[in-house]
Amino acid sequence: MQSAGGSTSSAKKSSSDIVFTCENCSSSFIVDGKAAGVTLKCQKCGHPTTVPSPVVQAMVENSLKVSDLQRQLKENESQRTEVTGYINQLSIQLHRWQLRMKTLKERQEKLEAEIIASGATVGKSSDASP
Ligand SMILES: [Zn+2]
Repeated sequence: MQSAGGSTSSAKKSSSDIVFTCENCSSSFIVDGKAAGVTLKCQKCGHPTTVPSPVVQAMVENSLKVSDLQRQLKENESQRTEVTGYINQLSIQLHRWQLRMKTLKERQEKLEAEIIASGATVGKSSDASP
């Protein structure tokens, strides 16, 4: 006499079958989909466990997936915040170096102009020969 119509002849799991775990000893069993919602005694320890319905099981799996996705999203968000911070920091530095470059250019032009004003030639030594 077989009580919990589990794996009798074939251990194959069809699409309607339900895998559930004993609340007491954590053994997993495969039962027919028709057994959803029915309380069965565990074949190992005899503890009565209600077979979850496939819909409930799918919902549980789905919510687990969603919470995992939300966790990944949060992680992604915090990494974005970090990178945005780096970009802002470096943008400020870039701006400072650009200002410095501008100042140096202006100084160069000013110095060159002063040299020209004092009657010498700048840079080019290829003067027309006499
Ligand atoms: Zn058990």
